[in-house]
Amino acid sequence: MSRIREYAPIVGEEVIDQLFKIAEKLEGKRIININSTAVGGGVAEILSRMIPLLNELGVDATWEVIKGTDEFFNITKTMHNALHGVNVSVTEEQLEYFLEINRQNAKNINLDGDVMFVHDPQPIALVEKRSQFNNKWLWRCHIDVSRPQEWAWNFLKPYVEKYDAAVFSAPAFAQQLPIDQFFISPSIDPLSDKNKDLSKEEIRAVFDKFGIDMNRPTITQVSRFDYLKDPVGVIEAYKHVKKHVDCQLVLAGGTATDDPESEKVLAEVREKAGSDPDIFILLLPPNSDFEINALQRGSTVILQKSIKEGFGLTVTEGLWKARPVVASAVGGITLQIKHKESGILTHTIEGTAYWIKQLIQNPEYANYLGKNGKEYVRNNFLITRHMKEYMLAFLSLFS
Ligand code: UDP
Repeated sequence: MSRIREYAPIVGEEVIDQLFKIAEKLEGKRIININSTAVGGGVAEILSRMIPLLNELGVDATWEVIKGTDEFFNITKTMHNALHGVNVSVTEEQLEYFLEINRQNAKNINLDGDVMFVHDPQPIALVEKRSQFNNKWLWRCHIDVSRPQEWAWNFLKPYVEKYDAAVFSAPAFAQQLPIDQFFISPSIDPLSDKNKDLSKEEIRAVFDKFGIDMNRPTITQVSRFDYLKDPVGVIEAYKHVKKHVDCQLVLAGGTATDDPESEKVLAEVREKAGSDPDIFILLLPPNSDFEINALQRGSTVILQKSIKEGFGLTVTEGLWKARPVVASAVGGITLQIKHKESGILTHTIEGTAYWIKQLIQNPEYANYLGKNGKEYVRNNFLITRHMKEYMLAFLSLFS
């Protein structure tokens, strides 16, 4: 049995057969994905799983990562925050530098794929070179750009318009554009180390390793240490809960090579946590998928208190583990969770604390939400659906 067939028990044999049929139509087409980091964050997470699976289906898909300096990633992080609507800006010289780094990368990366599939703003300006090639260019925007700082979108728009089409996670996150648009939501891989089933013993071993007591309620947020993930707000919510019920808090996250802010955020988180022995701040190295899986599975409540979010993979990861997820009603999260049906959506720290407490005290309701959440993910947010929609988007570029 080839690996792709292992997904059949989860999504059905027909889904896999259909994937092979669509893949056949892409024969001879080379798809080159480009992004800005090989590890850390949702885009790298998805690409690392999807490329080998597409290859197994017979699709010639590869993945390249642009190179940048600290200054470049400072600029792109500011741009990222501004696209999310945060009031920050960069100078003209910095925008020029952004373009310069893109131009340097254009010299070193093969831009001659039949489809150049460029992810997010960091490598967006590679498209300047498209006239040298006879191929199709597709821009994948993982960010909710519906309410950006004007300067950021005005800067990017001329580059976006050079593409044949753009992919957004949902219509609500998009912008008006004179090019074709596809709406494709991200996904998780149910068979990855991050999401596969684990035994109770495996889960317990990870809790033991970090000194977390599995017999007490545990609230967990897995996220890069990023202001937009609001880890300090998570600690505040936990402190409210703690006044009423016993619990522990796990904040687990590493850094991404294209994210320069994490150390500052981490320092603030440590200060806020103080010496509370029930707060576990786990700075995880890349490839901690098994540990993250176990932490999510062994938690009583999964939290995602983002201030802005394109689409929170961690929310879907928690739901797939049939855990009750409490998450902010922002961006794509509102599409990932149906409030009080497949999870809980909140707007404030107090609301977040209230629901965490409810779920700790009412395991039956927590299980109900978790079970529904898992089925919702099965039907909507698994990698097989995602691959199908990407392949159909690639094909449509040639029709
Ligand atoms: N993640 C991880 N290690 C960490 C922090 C996050 O592997 O230390 C993973 C997490 O499990 C999820 C992805 O990175 O798969 C984050 O994706 P999400 O969409 O939640 O947020 P992003 O980081 O892309 O903003």
